[in-house]
Amino acid sequence: MEERQDEQRMNCRIIDIHTHIYPVALARRAMEVTGHENDDFKKLPIRENLLARMREAGVDLSVNLPVVSKPQNQGEVNRFAKEAARKNIISFGGLHPDCENVIEELEKLKDMEMAGIKFHPPFQKVHLDDPKYEEMWRKINQLGFPVLIHMGTARIVRPYDLYPSGIRKILKFAPDIPIIMAHMGSFCMMKNPDEDLENLPENVFIDTAMSAELEEAGEFEKITRRFGTKRVLYGSDFPYGTQKAAIARIKDSSFTDSEKEDMLWRNAAKILKAVGKLPENIELQNFRKITIK
Ligand SMILES: [Zn+2]
Repeated sequence: MEERQDEQRMNCRIIDIHTHIYPVALARRAMEVTGHENDDFKKLPIRENLLARMREAGVDLSVNLPVVSKPQNQGEVNRFAKEAARKNIISFGGLHPDCENVIEELEKLKDMEMAGIKFHPPFQKVHLDDPKYEEMWRKINQLGFPVLIHMGTARIVRPYDLYPSGIRKILKFAPDIPIIMAHMGSFCMMKNPDEDLENLPENVFIDTAMSAELEEAGEFEKITRRFGTKRVLYGSDFPYGTQKAAIARIKDSSFTDSEKEDMLWRNAAKILKAVGKLPENIELQNFRKITIK
């Protein structure tokens, strides 16, 4: 009960741009990467559990990001993602760049009204910045899909790991769409001395996924300050990270209330509104000024 009152006092919208849910039959297997496959049912990455965590943390809207790890799973993964969507859970489409007819698949995802496109280079085993994907990127740009990409390593270093330097190459083919670099642009998935976030255009964003779990608070503030709070999106990476911890990371920071609001929902809301995916109960205009406790 006390928690409920807390949420009301805070009265701030929260949009989690980075979550993963799976069909019940696959949810245990999805936890194998972290050795949590034998966890209690309540902890598994299924829709009901995400909704429960959202209620506890006061999250209004979560974005589900399906990963198509093999080209042959393209249809099935997206069918589930579409079916799993609710008014407070919206789905990006997963895309494997090597699936049989990638242009056609992109059109299908548009027809399915997916909110954006998710890539995971190390799991998909693709060099996302390879010039052979030029046509794919041009099509994504033409369809206007926001794109969210897993950046850096996935626990072990792989040749496919993507860093901001790779995003600079992709931008040549996809200059107009929002590109969201997950995991603080790779900096919580490996510090790479040759990489930086300098001189990336306005349409490139970072999300906070796993920062609370893997990064010092000071590091988070440093990166955010340099990159700009208008281009940082709250993301938890549920079930691998927790929504509450990721919210606390932003709330406990030294940014202003307005900057915290930008990161917790407003930046994401603008991206989703542009593709007609912002639910009606989340108003961008006329949203009254709030105080974040
Ligand atoms: Zn993730």
